[in-house]
Amino acid sequence: MSFKVAIIGSGPSAFYAAQALFKSELNIQVDMFEKLPTPFGLLRGGVAPDHQQMKTVAKSYEKIAQHESYRFFGNVEIGKDISFDDLKKHYHCVVVAVGAETDRKMNIPGEHAKGSHTATEFVAWYNGQPNYQDKSFDLTGSSAIIIGQGNVAVDVTRILAKPISELQKTDITQNAINHLKDSKITDIYMIGRRGPAQSAFTVLELKELGQIDGVNLNIHDDLQLSNEDMEELEQSSKVRKNIAELNQLKANETTGNEKTIHLLFYSSPIEIIEENGQIKKVKFQKNKLEGSAGVQKARPTGETFDIDCTLLLRSIGYRGVPFKGLPFDDRTGTIPNKKGQVIKMDGSIIENVFVTGWIKRGPSGVIGTNRSDSIETIATCLTQIENASIEDPKDIELILTERNIQYLSYADWKIIDQYEISEGEKSGKPREKLTSIDQIFSILKK
Ligand code: NAP
Repeated sequence: MSFKVAIIGSGPSAFYAAQALFKSELNIQVDMFEKLPTPFGLLRGGVAPDHQQMKTVAKSYEKIAQHESYRFFGNVEIGKDISFDDLKKHYHCVVVAVGAETDRKMNIPGEHAKGSHTATEFVAWYNGQPNYQDKSFDLTGSSAIIIGQGNVAVDVTRILAKPISELQKTDITQNAINHLKDSKITDIYMIGRRGPAQSAFTVLELKELGQIDGVNLNIHDDLQLSNEDMEELEQSSKVRKNIAELNQLKANETTGNEKTIHLLFYSSPIEIIEENGQIKKVKFQKNKLEGSAGVQKARPTGETFDIDCTLLLRSIGYRGVPFKGLPFDDRTGTIPNKKGQVIKMDGSIIENVFVTGWIKRGPSGVIGTNRSDSIETIATCLTQIENASIEDPKDIELILTERNIQYLSYADWKIIDQYEISEGEKSGKPREKLTSIDQIFSILKK
């Protein structure tokens, strides 16, 4: 007896789900559907180009893709090319691994002024995601503001600060390099609404900010800790490491370089001020923290200040979007589930449909966190798969062909992969990404 499972999405959680399915004792065919032509989700489109080491995890996904029962269908959007209900008919189980595709909103006046973008748009642009290549970012002013102090905020700060000679060695797109090399930005403000003890970045990423050639790091606050902060510090090694590193960076502050990264705490944006439809400055309120350790909240002190800028990147976290045909918890931005089994808002289960990754648990954790998450989901799936049946045994490949849907197989992706690597070699980069779907199909036709 053999079973068929469809996985929607091809990022880390999708590959770990495939791996867990192949590790079971059952004979399972895994078909992975990706709306982009290329696999690997945020590993390709999110991880910073100067973090190549992190991208080597793709080698383990390669091994999973070599399994004889694995198929990749790139450039196929479930919900558009094939409806979710249609897809379900051809598989015993479906695993939704679509990540968190949008951003949280700040809900302040002027949020959508020209020059105000989400950090994830900037990330998708410099990482070559085809749907973001027509975006443009104003780098002509002297100041950029990044709202939020998570690792995405650190990534975009670093990309704005790093010398072009460093970026040129990465797989950032040539288009992004062409724009960044003319950047006039000298001051990059990375601003958190709470204090140093609550900063969301991790210590290695913070440390990197202090190690950029030709860039000062300036910490604007005195790093004093309250009793509640001290409690948080005692309870968390992450907080201890961040505070130790922040103190070290503050003690070694430099001046005199052309560029400066400014870290500001206890400050929330309250208004984006435009001039002629273009962002001019951001008004902030100063905060104090209230509440007990672990749940301290930012509250306004009444004091305000302004910072001029022509570029604002809002980096306050990702958010899942509703998936057509499935319930959605608007409060958490996730698909409601019990250990990966999708449930309706009333708690009843939706048979043979599962979720994993950020759309299951929310946008948190590192790439490896998705492994245990997917193992849990697939363990739940395996308790039911033998009782599941297929409504329509027709192979999906036939359906895609009948509907004239142009898709990429994994073998096609390997051609693109090799092409990108050889193009990159010409200019000393790990790869030069193809950034348009037409380009990708024209390479495959050669
Ligand atoms: P994040 O870690 O959740 O950080 C979000 C930041 O935005 C926090 O500083 C948060 O402050 C702030 N924030 C939220 N709402 C806000 C508001 N209304 N106004 C002002 N500030 C607000 O999110 P992320 O940076 O997008 O990262 C997502 C996940 O990917 C994380 O788990 C991260 O570690 C991971 N990631 C890892 C790497 C890496 O390993 N190098 C790189 C990129 C991303 P509060 O704490 O006050 O809410």
